[in-house]
Amino acid sequence: MITVDAAEKIILDQCKDFGTEIISFDKCLGRVLAENIFADRDFPPFDRVTMDGIAIDFDAYKNGNRSFKIKATQAAGENPINISNKNECIEIMTGAALPATTNTIVPYEEVEIKNGIATINADTVLINQNIHTKGKDKKQNEILAEANQFINASIVTIAATIGKTNLLVKKNPSIIIISTGDELVDIHETPTDFEIRRSNNYTLQAILKEYFLHVDLLHLPDEQKIINKQLEDCINKYDVIILSGGVSMGKFDYVPEALEKLNVKKLFHKVQQRPGKPFWFGAHAKGTLVFAFPGNPVSTFMCFHRYFLPWLKTSFQITTNKMYAILNEDFIFKPSLQYFLQVKLHINKSGELLATPVAGNGSGDFINLLYTDAFMELPMDKSEFKKGEIFPIWPFKQML
Ligand code: AMP
Ligand code: MG
Repeated sequence: MITVDAAEKIILDQCKDFGTEIISFDKCLGRVLAENIFADRDFPPFDRVTMDGIAIDFDAYKNGNRSFKIKATQAAGENPINISNKNECIEIMTGAALPATTNTIVPYEEVEIKNGIATINADTVLINQNIHTKGKDKKQNEILAEANQFINASIVTIAATIGKTNLLVKKNPSIIIISTGDELVDIHETPTDFEIRRSNNYTLQAILKEYFLHVDLLHLPDEQKIINKQLEDCINKYDVIILSGGVSMGKFDYVPEALEKLNVKKLFHKVQQRPGKPFWFGAHAKGTLVFAFPGNPVSTFMCFHRYFLPWLKTSFQITTNKMYAILNEDFIFKPSLQYFLQVKLHINKSGELLATPVAGNGSGDFINLLYTDAFMELPMDKSEFKKGEIFPIWPFKQML
């Protein structure tokens, strides 16, 4: 049995580069950007007017002039219209390019217009006000978005702005999620009194959907021959196999033996943790990785967040900061295992992230996951954890 840290290290040593591909802009959300995106021009590309109003030369205002003859009206997108003398102004709209002969925008709210004359009634007018200067945000050829991050709405905005119809993204690994167990019927089936419906496979599929990752699903009975045959096919077909169930000490837990028979090298079996102790992890010479999680729903769920998602993100070269929270109640856990305590998170008035234990009824109690937000990783070398102490957390829900 190895420690959580050792298991993590072995898994992260198996991170892989799955290559890149070019995809169209409308398919890019949630994928991982594999190229830096550069500014095709200055941002903004011209001195951009930021309020509807009038454009004036500040000199005239400074010299006491408050009434300006309106020479013309300029909409956004039009060529700038210059004033012929300092006592003129241009009625101008947000998004329009500032005429070179003007340098100040007075908004409509501070102007009265009558008979073609605009009179300013503002308390203060400052030179250059309400102008978003050319190149202020970024200069042409500067990096707007760096590679190795998930493409979110802000990156979509940038890609759209620079007219990037195709983007270079990281290829996703091909993944199959396999549930095992004769007691498990599918969602549309009615279980007998002593059967249950399977859910782990749908849970993991749902999480990966949040990462815009497509996965295949397969269910295997607890039958050695079928397990051997199907796993062999999957090893040939997929980059990653995620299994749930069949890795413990039970008479019908055939998975570890089957995997080793199929030359998947065992990198570890069993981790000093609760839940999820029987976790098995291995790699085939062909490159296929196998994460075989114990079947209890909370075990599968915890292992997936603690081991699989960090593996995925590290493979994508995405850096994430470890998160910590303050334990909000005393908690005792005696076994010499690293305990992943389910906690409810909230931020107090001082801006501190507090974690309140909601322990639940063990690794079969998946309903408790709905009432909690994260696993708090309590160190193995202690058994008493005090309110106010700080420990790492592995959030599994969006906090906002
Ligand atoms: P196992 O790891 O196969 O011994 O399974 C441990 C427990 O998890 C048993 O109670 C199983 O019925 C349950 N279990 C295994 N796989 C699933 C699944 N896909 N969905 C829900 N429960 C499961
Ligand atoms: Mg089983």
